[in-house]
Amino acid sequence: MEAAVLNGIGKDLEVEERKIPTPDGNEILIKQQFTGICYRDILTKEGFFPRVSLPMIPGHELSGTIVEIGEDVEYFKKGDHVAGLIYVPCGHCENCISGNENLCAFKKTMGENIQGTYREYVTINQRALVKVQQGVPEELATIAACVTGMATHALDSVAGISPGKRVLITGAGGGVGSHAIQIARAYGAEVTAVTSSQWKSEELYKLGADHVITASDTFSKDLKAIWAEGANIVMENTGSATFKESFRSLAFGGKMVVPGNLSPASPEIPLGILILKGNTVAGSISSTRNDMEKALLLSLKGKIKPVIWDRIDLKDVNTALKNIKEKKNVGRVLIRFS
Ligand SMILES: [Zn+2]
Ligand SMILES: [Zn+2]
Repeated sequence: MEAAVLNGIGKDLEVEERKIPTPDGNEILIKQQFTGICYRDILTKEGFFPRVSLPMIPGHELSGTIVEIGEDVEYFKKGDHVAGLIYVPCGHCENCISGNENLCAFKKTMGENIQGTYREYVTINQRALVKVQQGVPEELATIAACVTGMATHALDSVAGISPGKRVLITGAGGGVGSHAIQIARAYGAEVTAVTSSQWKSEELYKLGADHVITASDTFSKDLKAIWAEGANIVMENTGSATFKESFRSLAFGGKMVVPGNLSPASPEIPLGILILKGNTVAGSISSTRNDMEKALLLSLKGKIKPVIWDRIDLKDVNTALKNIKEKKNVGRVLIRFS
C-alpha cells in the first residue's frame, strides 16, 4: 500500500510504498475508506509537537472495517465497522479506569509517537476503538474522534451545554467549527458563529447557526449587539488569535472552553474580569470513547451532517494541507482510499 510520510520537519510529505501491517496480540487491522486531514497534521509537519519521531506517517482520524484481529482481541471481530480515538490510552491509570482516557498521561498519539492514518491499512490497539452502528455515514465515523467527539467533549463534558444556552463558536468555518454548530444546536443551544471569512457566512447559517459574525478586532461588540448579556459558553477553536475578543464576549458566570490553538502564541487573561464576572477558562483535550459514542449517536439520528469540503487522493495531500492552512475550506477535507 501507499503511505504519505513526513521525513523531515518543514518538508512536504512523501508518498512511499509500505507493507500492510500484521496485528499482534491486542491489535486490530483496519481497512479505511477515508481518513481526515486535521490542522494538527499541519502543526506536526511544521514542528510544533516536539515529541514527533521521524519518519512518521501523519494522521489520526481513523475508521473502517476490521480485516484481521490479533490473538488476544476479544470484543471485536472481523467485519466489524469501527472508529478510533486519535490515541491509544494505557488502559490502567486512574484517568483510564474512570473513563477520562483523554487525560491519560501515558497515551500514545497517532501521527506523533505511533504511526498514523495517512495509509489505507492501519493496525491499532483495541483499546482505541469503538463500534460504529450501521446507518452512520462513513465520513462521520472517520471524524467521530477528532471532530464530532472532540466538539462533544468540549461542549458537553467540559462546558456543560444545555438547552437555551447562548454559545459562541469561533473558527466556525473550519472542520471542527462547522460540526460544532450542529452539535450545539442538537443540544438545544442558541449559536453565534464567528468566522474570519465573510464568504463562509451563508454556509454557516445553513448548518444551523442562529447568528454569524465576521471576526474583527472588536467582534465582542458585535456579539453584545446580538446578546446583550454575553455568551454562556465560548468554544474557542482558533486559540490565541481570537482569545481576547472571545473572553470579552463571556456573560457573568460564562465559561470559555479551548480545544485548539492554531498558532503557538499565548494570550493574556485579564484577571480582573475573570474574577469579577466569575468566568472560567478551561482546556479541552481530544475525546473519550464515551464522547465518540455520543457523537456517533447524534450522527445516526441525523442530527449531524458531514461537512466535507473535498475528498482527495493521497498523492494530493501536500496541496490539501496548504489549502487548509490558507482557510480555503468549509468543513473537513478527507483522503479517500477506495
Ligand atoms: Zn484531527
Ligand atoms: Zn491511562
